Amino acid sequence: MAQTTEALFRDDAYLSTAEAQVVAINDRGGILLDRTIFYATSGGQPGDTGMLERADGRIAIAATITGETKDEIIHVPAPEQALPAVGEKLKLAIDWRRRHLLMRMHSACHLLTVVCPFPITGAAVAEDDSRVDFDIPDAGFSKEDVTARLMELVRADYPVFTRLITDEELSANPGLVKSKNVRPPVGTGRIRLVCIGENASIDSQPCGGTHVKSTGEIGEIHIGKIEKKGRENRRFRIRFGPMPAN
Ligand SMILES: [Zn+2]
Repeated sequence: MAQTTEALFRDDAYLSTAEAQVVAINDRGGILLDRTIFYATSGGQPGDTGMLERADGRIAIAATITGETKDEIIHVPAPEQALPAVGEKLKLAIDWRRRHLLMRMHSACHLLTVVCPFPITGAAVAEDDSRVDFDIPDAGFSKEDVTARLMELVRADYPVFTRLITDEELSANPGLVKSKNVRPPVGTGRIRLVCIGENASIDSQPCGGTHVKSTGEIGEIHIGKIEKKGRENRRFRIRFGPMPAN
């Protein structure tokens, strides 16, 4: 039976600690809680790592994944951790330093899709190097130009916020979906949009990830590389910091 975990990070991506109760331990030793601040791997963003603190010890969490459904979140302990009892109350603490890097990177990937408005064929957010793949025959962009345009959007410090829309609103606005092959899950009646700019003037797209609250918080980024991946595919790599002089 799939459980539904209350995903606290969806309403507040800045929660780094919380309390929760163990509802189950699955047959592979994964820990299920009634609520969590641990983001589970999906949509190109890796799941959180961190600690579950017990009255007398702590359990290191090496990964967070979804279970039978997207609403079931499984906390995967590092090897050789003692498991908690069902019903036990725990204090949760994510590795906030890592998560904040992932939030900055994920928001930076959305800005890249504004600068490069082409169908997305893949994306992977990571702490120090993220990538977005676009279906375009020739980039026609230089690293320098894309970096300059990204940094304009960062410096403008646009607000980033989420909004829920209905399946009908999404069907009426097919342009919101930027992925070439991946469609957002419909049928639940609610789709979460991540919006950038006052009244979403810069961007809005379906996304379940965690984001910074304004683009200025992304900080300095640059395009490290634009790679050719097949005839009609270009991979853009985003890195933190200023563009290195070569
Ligand atoms: Zn996203």
